Amino acid sequence: PELHVELAARRYPIHIESGLLRRRIAALAQAPERMLIVTDDNVGPLYADALKQAIGRPDCPVWRMPAGEAEKTLARFGELLEHMAERGLTRDARVLALGGGVIGDLAGFAAACYMRGIAFVQIPTTLLAMVDSSVGGKTAVDLPAGKNLVGAFHQPQAVYIDPDVLATLPEREFRAGLAEVLKYGAIADARFFGWLEDNAEALLARDAAELEGAILLSCRHKADIVARDETEQGDRALLNFGHTFGHALEVLLDYGTLLHGEAVAIGMQLAADFSVELGHADIGDSQRLRALLNRFGLPTALPTGLGADAVVAKMRLDKKAAAGRLRLILWRGVGKAFIAGDVDAGALTAFLAAQSAGN
Ligand code: NAD
Ligand code: ZN
Repeated sequence: PELHVELAARRYPIHIESGLLRRRIAALAQAPERMLIVTDDNVGPLYADALKQAIGRPDCPVWRMPAGEAEKTLARFGELLEHMAERGLTRDARVLALGGGVIGDLAGFAAACYMRGIAFVQIPTTLLAMVDSSVGGKTAVDLPAGKNLVGAFHQPQAVYIDPDVLATLPEREFRAGLAEVLKYGAIADARFFGWLEDNAEALLARDAAELEGAILLSCRHKADIVARDETEQGDRALLNFGHTFGHALEVLLDYGTLLHGEAVAIGMQLAADFSVELGHADIGDSQRLRALLNRFGLPTALPTGLGADAVVAKMRLDKKAAAGRLRLILWRGVGKAFIAGDVDAGALTAFLAAQSAGN
């Protein structure tokens, strides 16, 4: 199938097709521009050759970096830019981001900055990148002080998704991606949430039909929200459900212990439970959320040893928090997230303190 992301200035396609990397990608094969494949040390050896074949350029240069969130740094970003300059890439060159969200975010940000912006294409290879990070044009690197603190909006020219590459994705990474799939159901689509409950086993078994269905629906939700609110003035913030909590956990644990999707899983559950405590949602809904997250093998409890004050301090720094107040995505139940503009930091601290005492 093919979807489109409709922006004010232009539209771009999302192609979802199993076996796509084993065939010729005509739109890329016919383009005359120079290209640079950007990937990491896990994905490169697995799929860079296939991509070169698919674009009809066996000699396409490849730039590789070590894998992992801890590598999404200004230093790597700088290395990539210098490499692009050494290769003599000009404004009409294209970057092909082949990998998970780390590569997509970093390569996309380099494309956004090199010569004030060159074109790039997303070829996501993790479930998380397929359903979330490759679509929508947010690019960034991390600082030690916080996640994604330096970045730009830079939309890709196109997104090419071959679900077949998920066959080699480690189980833990796969499950972390399911957190972002579930997120769309939790924030905006109760029917999809029910479908995920009914098809959890098939998804965990990576059955092709169910997997493709989940990717397609997730991309459709993402494309819709981005089309309505490209630069996050309003609705797009709903996609941050669980993320203000999650980013704080990722930073406090030094990006090493929890995968992004795992941190988001805990964050969604905290947001749901906090919403119950504030009287916005029913406990039955938060129990449904916990049950599905746990079925996907995802964590839902605040990691031990984190102080409530430290978590809230990091949440304040998260760029989604407007000056002085705490802006959070809260919940009215399955399919119904909302933006809470003025959350009381004291109540939040007390809630988190009770959570960590309960662990
Ligand atoms: P990742 O890029 O680190 O990939 C996870 C691991 O899987 C890596 O070790 C990678 O080498 C390996 N891998 C990737 N594809 C593989 C495959 N097909 N087979 C075998 N191994 C494979 O992590 P991720 O979960 O894809 O992305 C997380 C990042 O995405 C975070 O930095 C997060 O902030 C970002 N993100 C961005 C957005 C956005 O809108 N830009 C949205 C959500 C998340
Ligand atoms: Zn995320």
